[in-house]
Amino acid sequence: TRTVDILGIPFFNTTETDFQEILHNKINDHTNTFVVTANPEIVMYAKANPRYAELIQSADYIIPDGIGIIMGAKMLKTPLQERVTGYDLFVHLLEWGNAHQKSAFFIGAQPAVIRKLKKAVQENYPFLTIAGTHDGYFGDDRNIVRDIKRTKPDMVFVATGYPKQEEFINKNRSTADALWIGIGGSFDVLTG
Ligand code: UDP
Repeated sequence: TRTVDILGIPFFNTTETDFQEILHNKINDHTNTFVVTANPEIVMYAKANPRYAELIQSADYIIPDGIGIIMGAKMLKTPLQERVTGYDLFVHLLEWGNAHQKSAFFIGAQPAVIRKLKKAVQENYPFLTIAGTHDGYFGDDRNIVRDIKRTKPDMVFVATGYPKQEEFINKNRSTADALWIGIGGSFDVLTG
């Protein structure tokens, strides 16, 4: 098996470049894929919330986002190869998506941040189709989900922080055969 268990969370043991390639293949094949980028806070939150733990265990990949996870694995004598952050994956997928003319849907952050993100993507990744954008402060997700279903994006980036982003993905991933990935505060970082 390719996973390393940290406090009950099975982390996928990979390197950044290997994992990028896995995701390229999943996206090209339109395989429905759910990726959790988990830091120590997420592991602790899962430990205290069994329902959240169960939810993230249904993901296809849980990736070690944070040096604390790498150190923990080493201390447990079951080392993980490399840290793979949600933010780095996000930036890589924007570049790759631009080079391969993919489409992406962006959900998360404050309205002003998501507006800024949309502009930045249009300017820097002109061949990446923006299937849709929505800020992360919504009650009802029905309109967002309807738009995802209609636009059939290759990638859905959900940056609403945990546990909201994983709950959203778990609930809605069946509406599009896309890569669904939760990436925390990445929209703020990219536009900041
Ligand atoms: N956020 C959001 N909706 C919410 C709560 C938070 O879109 O209901 C956004 C917030 O604006 C920020 C990100 O989610 O852009 C959270 O970033 P953080 O680095 O705290 O992520 P976490 O470590 O909580 O996953």
